[in-house]
Amino acid sequence: MSSQTARGEKLVTLIPGDGIGPECVESARRIVEAAGAAVRWEVRHAGASVFRQGIASGVPQDTIESIARTRVVLKGPLETPVGYGEKSANVTLRKLFETYGNIRPVRELPGVPTPYSGRGVDLVVVRENVEDLYAGIEHMQTPGVAQCLKLISVKGCEKVVRLAFELARAEGRKRVHCATKSNIMKLTEGTLKRVFERIAPEYPDIEAQHIIVDNCAHQLVKKPEQFDVIVTTNMNGDILSDLTSALVGGLGFAPSANLGNEVAIFEAVHGSAPKYAGKNVINPTAVVLSAVLMLRHLGEFEAAARIEHAILVTLEEGKVRTGDVVGYDRGASTTAFTDAIIGNLGRRSERWKVRDYRPIQLPRLGPQPDFVRAGRRRVIGVDVFVESAQTPEQLGRSLEAAVEGAPVRLKMISNRGTKVYPPTGAITDCVDHWRCRFVVRDATADLDDAAVFDLLQRVAARHRWMHVEKLQEIDGAPAYTLAQGED
Ligand code: NAP
Repeated sequence: MSSQTARGEKLVTLIPGDGIGPECVESARRIVEAAGAAVRWEVRHAGASVFRQGIASGVPQDTIESIARTRVVLKGPLETPVGYGEKSANVTLRKLFETYGNIRPVRELPGVPTPYSGRGVDLVVVRENVEDLYAGIEHMQTPGVAQCLKLISVKGCEKVVRLAFELARAEGRKRVHCATKSNIMKLTEGTLKRVFERIAPEYPDIEAQHIIVDNCAHQLVKKPEQFDVIVTTNMNGDILSDLTSALVGGLGFAPSANLGNEVAIFEAVHGSAPKYAGKNVINPTAVVLSAVLMLRHLGEFEAAARIEHAILVTLEEGKVRTGDVVGYDRGASTTAFTDAIIGNLGRRSERWKVRDYRPIQLPRLGPQPDFVRAGRRRVIGVDVFVESAQTPEQLGRSLEAAVEGAPVRLKMISNRGTKVYPPTGAITDCVDHWRCRFVVRDATADLDDAAVFDLLQRVAARHRWMHVEKLQEIDGAPAYTLAQGED
């Protein structure tokens, strides 16, 4: 989806960004214009300059309005304060416009020597972009214990999995791997695996394979040419796609597209690299290739191919190369490299191919929030999270006494996921954060809210609690996991 001017030009919101952003974005803008693409820019701002104006989101209203109008963004990197203060303006943009899929292609490039040169690395990481730990729902549960919620939805997984298969089809790719940590996080990461296995048969022309994400990282370093498309959760995808950037010469060559049903945001994988800001030395290729992805999204396939060929020819000839490739003492300036690409528009590389791209069919799922409904459900217990400096035995005996006569009994207590009460004989280093698991005494009962409130009152009379979680059975299956050591 995009918006057009009366003269048929496609409107694009252009955000220069922070650090090296303005230099990269200016390079991309000049190349896109020189390639004759019918694009009209609306320049808007986000990131550090906006934080400095006191706008805590880093994204001002006129930028939001422009994006809502144009539906397409080309942006430079935005600086994020680390570990305190403002939220990431990047994550805010991705989430405000529900760009649920982050596409990060890498391919071997001529004249960019790497340990993998000659092996034909050419793959795409499709990263889920709005869920997982990046929902940023965090709490200090005790003064010494922090929690981050990892939220993964069936709907979110279905969108990103379908996007990965559709992308494979649009780009003539043959294989999709799904990389998860479902062996450990059976419910969250496991949801992506289960959705992938359910949807894969709808794409019989594409080979589908699950891989554990740590092995995926290992295989990417060992034999990257075995991969075509990798679909994965947000955090895994963040890490894997930086790794894949390094396979082809580094972050200077790694573009990305954040795709949603309404809005698409194109940007380099790299950040604002502040040490190079304003020096006219950085490699703009990642942002230029992001603009190429954008042009294909806009249906400007010819201009996109012209630019990609010009980049290949420029790199293949190797007369003008940036400092990240040949060393900053010998590298060409950003502007000279940009001029070289513009000078090569219209030329084609004979040896280095540009794929034939077809428009991608974005998956459209129903808008209903309760995308998955249960036939049956039952509350069979409650996890109450308690802050206490007592020993597991003291706490266990105290809670057992607290629930005498209640419809629930204390089943176990765990500390950071490991069962410590009743004692197992293991040697576990404990902190003051306990998960106290209560289950119904009558195994067929369905615990109502009055019983949950009664339980909380009984616990609260003796201990400080900070969090409560119902234990549900959904369609007969437990909707929770066991602690390490719990039977
Ligand atoms: P970074 O900005 O990506 O830079 C890390 C290193 O990558 C640079 O020091 C440089 O390596 C290399 N590099 C990055 N872009 C390059 C380019 N165009 N040409 C050549 N080399 C390039 O990562 P960071 O230092 O971790 O992050 C800096 C800021 O950017 C942070 O505030 C972070 O939050 C933000 N960030 C924003 C985005 C985004 O807007 N999407 C993404 C990531 C990070 P050498 O030092 O080896 O030369």
